[in-house]
Amino acid sequence: MTFTLPELPYDRDALEPHISARTLDYHHGKHHKTYIDTLNRNVAGTPYEGMTLEDVIRTSFKKKDKSVYNNASQAWNHTFLWDSMKSGGAGRPTGELSGMIKDQFGGLDTFRKQFKEAAVAEFGSGWTWLIADDDTLAIVSTPDADSPLTTDVTPLLTLDVWEHAYYLDYQNSRDKYVDAFLEHLINWDFAEANLEALDARSQLRASSDVSLAAARREYSG
Ligand code: FE
Repeated sequence: MTFTLPELPYDRDALEPHISARTLDYHHGKHHKTYIDTLNRNVAGTPYEGMTLEDVIRTSFKKKDKSVYNNASQAWNHTFLWDSMKSGGAGRPTGELSGMIKDQFGGLDTFRKQFKEAAVAEFGSGWTWLIADDDTLAIVSTPDADSPLTTDVTPLLTLDVWEHAYYLDYQNSRDKYVDAFLEHLINWDFAEANLEALDARSQLRASSDVSLAAARREYSG
């Protein structure tokens, strides 16, 4: 067994009444588990065995190993989804993210409006994300199993807009499910932590650029 289904970061009924325990039973216990089980079967005896999940996603994307890619990406996306929500979530972002949302969206209300528009407009199955591209925020949607992980941007939050994520609680009303996420469930602390990790990586890159530049000066001098 290479990859394992992570535990939910909260009890199955923790997101009620917005997302029911029954939905999480199916969504985590059946759908997410099936992606992991299928991935394990697909990678057994291949060079993917022993890679990190992120490396499996990036490598299978490049090699166009569609089944490995789809299941690996769905495995990763769902783990990221569970952390993107919490009981008693939403409210307001804090720290650096709070200022960035104000600067780039004009405020939290406009962010919510744009996120909802993107999530509702995504045709068929997919994901809606808040991402950071260096110091710029954006809302993007990806179809099917895709995530921003195969590009240079950093995901901060996601919402699963596959029908299996909301059908038991909201039937065909994706808009009501998106409202529940935006008004009651968003885990801003998780988004903030992802932004801080991006800042730390950027600073590390900047400081190694400085030392390279210093080394170049030394050699040319
Ligand atoms: Fe899902």
